[in-house]
Amino acid sequence: MEFSGSKMQLLAVTDLNEQEAELTNAQSKQYTCKGCGKETPNLFQYDLCRDCLNQTFRRLIKVIDSVRK
Ligand SMILES: [Zn+2]
Repeated sequence: MEFSGSKMQLLAVTDLNEQEAELTNAQSKQYTCKGCGKETPNLFQYDLCRDCLNQTFRRLIKVIDSVRK
């Protein structure tokens, strides 16, 4: 039982190291937003950053509202 316990601990350490490596890779990845040209680690639909996507949605909502009237 003592052996399997130390083996589990070893596996946990390995998993943690892999997660850290993935996190570092993700952080170094930057995308350029097509709306404002800002570099961001997260791009959403239409290659837009979060701010630009929100603005796009607001514009779309206005269009939808004007069609309904
Ligand atoms: Zn943007």
